[in-house]
Amino acid sequence: MLVKTQTIEQQASSQASLQMVASLLDALDRPLLVSDRRGRLLFTNLHAQDHLNSMAVNPKADANLFSDILHTDRKTILSQLESGETEVSHPIEYEAEKYRARVRWLPEPDWLVVYLEPIAAEAGPDEAEMRQTVQELMQEREITYRNLLAAYLRLQEVNRQKTVFLASAAHELKTPLAVMKGYYDLLLSGSLGKIGERQRDILQESKESCDRLVRLVSMFLNYSALESGKLVLQLRENDLRDCVNDITGRWQDAFKRAAVRLEIKLHPELPAFKFDYQKVQQCVANLLDNALKHTPAGGSVTLAGGPHFWERRTSEAAPSTERRLSGGQRPNSVLVTVTDTGSGIASEYHQEIFEEFVRVDPSSSGMGLGLAITKRLIQAHRGKVWVNSELGRGSSFSFLLPIQTE
Ligand code: ADP
Repeated sequence: MLVKTQTIEQQASSQASLQMVASLLDALDRPLLVSDRRGRLLFTNLHAQDHLNSMAVNPKADANLFSDILHTDRKTILSQLESGETEVSHPIEYEAEKYRARVRWLPEPDWLVVYLEPIAAEAGPDEAEMRQTVQELMQEREITYRNLLAAYLRLQEVNRQKTVFLASAAHELKTPLAVMKGYYDLLLSGSLGKIGERQRDILQESKESCDRLVRLVSMFLNYSALESGKLVLQLRENDLRDCVNDITGRWQDAFKRAAVRLEIKLHPELPAFKFDYQKVQQCVANLLDNALKHTPAGGSVTLAGGPHFWERRTSEAAPSTERRLSGGQRPNSVLVTVTDTGSGIASEYHQEIFEEFVRVDPSSSGMGLGLAITKRLIQAHRGKVWVNSELGRGSSFSFLLPIQTE
């Protein structure tokens, strides 16, 4: 049923063309009404009928445009149109709905064409005020964000410059320290002449202080290299046994002098796998250094290493039943643990100590960088490092290195 006209057929030349025009007007996406100048409705399209229904006006029951729809005197509208205005806009209110009626005059057939436009509820003064306040707040927030970002970038640049300056200062220290260390070794070897017991002790102590300085400097250089994103792993197929024995060999003397027993327990089936030899040595050295520093004379430090099955908790991992069925519990990593009988660390510091410049006991020597560097190096290998410790009962630092690089 396409035709919705009432008396428009009186004006149309043929029924067919009338139906065509009507269906075209029905397809319009806005309400359209046509009346004669007395307000008698000649045509309402489908949209208009819907609106009139909601305004409780029946277009088929001789409804009048002026009295029933526009609720105004027809002379008011007609006089404006006849005075030359092409369109008269007239507000209509029905219950909560508001419309604007746009009335045009077609002189030739002397018809009035009316479009109805719903008016969106206007914001009340409170709402408008609130909208403005929200807008102002958003603007303020954006300015604050921008200022914060600018300040952050400035600080970052200052920080970078400071790191670069300290790194170059540390670099300058390396050569004189190496020279000093070389002379201590030469003197201690006796090749420059015989030295007495007292002189040997003093030289030995000076050499150890020099070694500590060398470690601090290299620690800082490593840190600044990490900071400036210069960490590049030299991943090669290496033997962890060699790597560990090499470094512990260098620490034996220091442990002996401190009267702390150093025990190495490496599993006979340590597999060869890809890792950065120097960097892993550095991690082991940092853990040994800490263990020695915090373990009193008479105590012991144990370094253990062996294959391990690491069940990574990722969403992509196969369920454990599946892995068990496929015999998947083969070692996929190596676990290294350095355990000491030293002072221990209270549990509230177990996370923090892996952050830069964090020292639990500020009176102890060190910059609070060793564990932070260790963590970054281990993570660069896609491994992880953690601590188990209890105050007064020693500490156990462990790291895992994956042997399969997926
Ligand atoms: P530092 O160079 O100052 O030792 P680290 O990052 O290596 O810095 O260690 C951070 C802090 O963690 C240390 O200051 C120390 O308080 C604590 N710590 C680290 N290892 C041990 C340990 N084996 N026993 C007790 N405390 C430790």
